[in-house]
Amino acid sequence: MTTRSFSFAPVQLPASAMRLRAEVREFLAGETAAGTFAPGPAGWARIDPAFSQRLGARGWLGMTWPKKYGGHERSALERYVVIEELLVAGAPMRGHWAADRQLGPLLLEFGTEEQRQRYLPEIAAGRCLVAIGLSEPDSGSDLSAIRTSAVKVDGGWKVNGTKIWTSLAHRAQLTSLFVRTSPKSENRHAGVSRFLVDMACKGITVRPVINMLGEHDFNEVVFEELFVPNNMVVGEVGAAWQQMGKDLAYERSAPDRWLASHDLLLRTIERIGDAPNQVQRETIGRLVAHLWTLQNMSLSIAGMLGNGQNPSVEASIVKDLGTQYDQEVPQRARALVPEHLRVRPDAGGFEASLRHNLQFSPAVTIRGGTTEILRNTIARALGLR
Ligand SMILES: Cc1cc2nc3c(=O)[nH]c(=O)nc-3n(C[C@H](O)[C@H](O)[C@H](O)COP(=O)(O)OP(=O)(O)OC[C@H]3O[C@@H](n4cnc5c(N)ncnc54)[C@H](O)[C@@H]3O)c2cc1C
Repeated sequence: MTTRSFSFAPVQLPASAMRLRAEVREFLAGETAAGTFAPGPAGWARIDPAFSQRLGARGWLGMTWPKKYGGHERSALERYVVIEELLVAGAPMRGHWAADRQLGPLLLEFGTEEQRQRYLPEIAAGRCLVAIGLSEPDSGSDLSAIRTSAVKVDGGWKVNGTKIWTSLAHRAQLTSLFVRTSPKSENRHAGVSRFLVDMACKGITVRPVINMLGEHDFNEVVFEELFVPNNMVVGEVGAAWQQMGKDLAYERSAPDRWLASHDLLLRTIERIGDAPNQVQRETIGRLVAHLWTLQNMSLSIAGMLGNGQNPSVEASIVKDLGTQYDQEVPQRARALVPEHLRVRPDAGGFEASLRHNLQFSPAVTIRGGTTEILRNTIARALGLR
């Protein structure tokens, strides 16, 4: 096995990215003034198709893709800045999130020309909501154990099986689906393929799974005799495993991995006010130092992705540290702000933000790869196991 080290080279944002940051802030100020969204603890998770389309019209989706596919040929660092500003503002992002971040780059690298021309301009315009169908009732971390199977038929494939925890399958136009196209063999990574599934097709049942916040966000999705035509297979049949790489780096290192608790951090600072005691000062200082470090690590990964590298180990490290940070913020906030200061009429939403973060933060350990799996990946890459 080849082992590797990891590094996080510092990245200096170019002037174009700094100008873009100001432009995005101005756009967001206009949006909040117009009341199109209100900052809040779960901003990112909201779906607003019209907002996604306004971002598309601004050129802030598919930012790094070729212009011939509706992209804008901007740098990974410029893309990073736009996403960071949108997350900090609590803008609604879910309408385009998985499409822009995961499916688009996947199609650019492995999709057919027909798939690229059909889907990339739609994604870049903010008109395509995508779900990702990997996990199954008996297979989450170990994707090689998936049982959703596809059997070859005339002109395509017949799919049968069940996926679970599929975020937004009830709203998606398209699902990026992991299926077994040949039986499990000694090479556990062989025989798994990636299909694009049009969610309007016959043979799909979507059932809600209500999360701890009482929200319908993910689902169980059952496929019965679903026909998927040949032109919806992404890349080579049986090679889905080899396609996983950069998309995971995008997924695991992006600022959403350490900004989930940002609204609460800001409200905690506001609630403490301008005369913090020693403990409050030290704790906030420490959290902000972590935040700054995570930002620079995440930015460094954006730089590597922009240079065509595949920083999968570095991305796993950022996801692991980001998870710890996002779970620490609500615990610290609860300890720092005494109960009588939480529910005052001028509390500025602190209580709601704390409640949301306490209930949501257990999930960050799991989504996008569990902490144990990430640490296994890091240890293996470093030759430690
Ligand atoms: C908010 C949220 C959104 C999600 N959205 C999606 C989605 O859109 N699409 C999708 O496909 N999935 C989604 N998931 C599912 C998620 O990817 C899986 O839950 C995750 O991969 C873990 O799989 P599992 O639940 O089967 O747990 P398991 O894999 O059974 O793991 C259970 C525990 O065992 C540990 N463990 C497992 N294997 C090992 C090992 N080899 N070494 C050490 N420890 C191990 C894990 O770390 C974990 O603590 C979502 C999950 C959440 C919380």
